Amino acid sequence: MNQLEIVALEILDRITDGFFSVDTNWNFTYINSEATRLLFRNREDLLGKNIWYEFPEAVHLEFYEQYNKAVNDQVPVTFSSFFPPLDTWFEVRAYPSANGLSVYFLDVTTEKKSASEKQQHYKSLFEQNPDAVFSFDLEGNYLSVNSAMKRLLGYTEKEFLQSSYLPLVEEAELQRTRSHYEKAAAGYTQNYETKALHKDGRVVHVSVTNIPIIVDHEVVGVYGIAKDITDQKATELQLIKSEKLSAVGQLSASIAHEIRNPLTALKGFLQIMRSSAPSKEMSYYEIMADEIARIEQITGELLMAAKPQVQHFHYENLTDILHDVTKLLNSQALINRVNIHVNTEAIPLVYCVAHQLKQVFINLIKNAIESMPSGGDIHVFIGNSQNGQVYLKIMDQGCGIPEDLLQNIGIPFYTTKQKGTGLGMMTSFKIIESHGGRMEISSKEEEGTMVTITLPVHFVE
Ligand code: ADP
Ligand code: MG
Repeated sequence: MNQLEIVALEILDRITDGFFSVDTNWNFTYINSEATRLLFRNREDLLGKNIWYEFPEAVHLEFYEQYNKAVNDQVPVTFSSFFPPLDTWFEVRAYPSANGLSVYFLDVTTEKKSASEKQQHYKSLFEQNPDAVFSFDLEGNYLSVNSAMKRLLGYTEKEFLQSSYLPLVEEAELQRTRSHYEKAAAGYTQNYETKALHKDGRVVHVSVTNIPIIVDHEVVGVYGIAKDITDQKATELQLIKSEKLSAVGQLSASIAHEIRNPLTALKGFLQIMRSSAPSKEMSYYEIMADEIARIEQITGELLMAAKPQVQHFHYENLTDILHDVTKLLNSQALINRVNIHVNTEAIPLVYCVAHQLKQVFINLIKNAIESMPSGGDIHVFIGNSQNGQVYLKIMDQGCGIPEDLLQNIGIPFYTTKQKGTGLGMMTSFKIIESHGGRMEISSKEEEGTMVTITLPVHFVE
């Protein structure tokens, strides 16, 4: 060993890294003090011994692979790896030479543990989050999704990771959603609402936040957080509808009331004039009488809807009420070549206001007749439903209601008829609701409509 080599070894002994070298047969040729400390071994015990014989566990770990790579390819390697026998994380740099391999290493256990703890903190925030959390690359392909996201849209993690967000957004929302996404990918956080598609085809209203993922001052992807707001949206719609209803209620109560009295006078005088009118003017009087009847109908419906009239609840026979109504409407039905078929099961008496339910049945059967301008059949069923409730179904073979207009049915003044009032369904909804029941409409365009009412037998608040 020459002078220079001795100096070099002294330096190596004093450096703060662990250092050792092995020859081409993997036998230790040098170990510095720090290395003996880190490895808990004496220098004398290791010198001249084979590294894989002394540290057999390392053969199955990254150490073996990396050192061999360095030697075989004659390239330096750096890596960090956990060494279980010493419960230690090592950060290693190894340099090959013609004489073998020189290895520098540090104990980085503390840093690693705190980094991994931090990582686990973040992982919990991601995985345990009740909101759907996910990340994308810059093209919008999914990189990760948490459990809430899988529940939200019904896909497996694998299915997400093979897809971008585009096919999961409702067609009509696609352009807007994409523009938000692109802004996020350009570095600007976005908050917006959109409609996503569940695997089963359902539309899910979501409120989304898109956040750029920034690494070394550069956007490398986008984080997403989504909340299901489908129920909230439905409630909002319901609220708007009921607000309209009560506004209309107040307005119509006063208007209808004001119109009723003058109308009675007009009607009376018209009748007198008509009795002495020349026959060529007869048709005018008829038109006037018709129009007055129509105004009466409208104000009647408005009052019914608006005024909380004194309600006399009694136990009544629904089947009898229905038969009264069909008798009343039969002539109108026949004129329109419509047949009304009634099918009833024996049901208990129902606690209700008879004349109100009568009004509902009239409204519904009239609508059914009017939906079939060239005739057809109406089927009415009465029967027992679950939980001791009773149901009444009215089915027609009429024009049906387009799906996107279904939500309008029951909104005051919503009508598709030239002479319609758009009040019948609203009144019916209100009456059924005040009886503690439910009314549901299902319809198919060009095929027909089915209205189903379920009522409790005894009133429940
Ligand atoms: P109106 O009958 O005066 O139009 P309604 O409140 O009774 O008012 O009905 C509102 C609207 O609902 C109707 O104009 C019609 O478009 C639709 N509708 C109700 N019932 C039916 C039905 N059985 N078939 C088709 N459309 C219906
Ligand atoms: Mg109607």
